[in-house]
Amino acid sequence: MAKHYKIQSIRIHQSYEVSELSDLLICTQQTVRAWIRDGLPVLSARRPILILGFELRKYLKDRDANAKRPTALGEFYCMRCRKPQKPFGMLVDYIPINESKGRLAALCSVCETTCSRFASKDSLPELSQIFEIVIAAMKQD
Ligand SMILES: [Zn+2]
Repeated sequence: MAKHYKIQSIRIHQSYEVSELSDLLICTQQTVRAWIRDGLPVLSARRPILILGFELRKYLKDRDANAKRPTALGEFYCMRCRKPQKPFGMLVDYIPINESKGRLAALCSVCETTCSRFASKDSLPELSQIFEIVIAAMKQD
């Protein structure tokens, strides 16, 4: 679950250093650096690097919007893309956990990272109208 920051306290016409943002938003500097690695634009021509208020607002708003967006039946949440994606070729493996439920595994159609989610066995007929499902053997242990 994504943490919600006080976006309103960020002034759009101001630029901030990483340490200023961690004070303003009450988060660690590592959090701010993680956003930068994740794609938050910065002014890196001089040190310390500066983050523009409006870029940060946009970044945090997009991030919240993605977090709130429900995953549609035909999609998997991709941890690398950080949003729901269609499975590669709509190919999905169903790996039973017990008699009534299992795990659906697929590759993200964009970045080919393995994505998975839980599914009940009862939902397989419905899911197989969307996906090409291969049912794996239940693990015997
Ligand atoms: Zn992906």
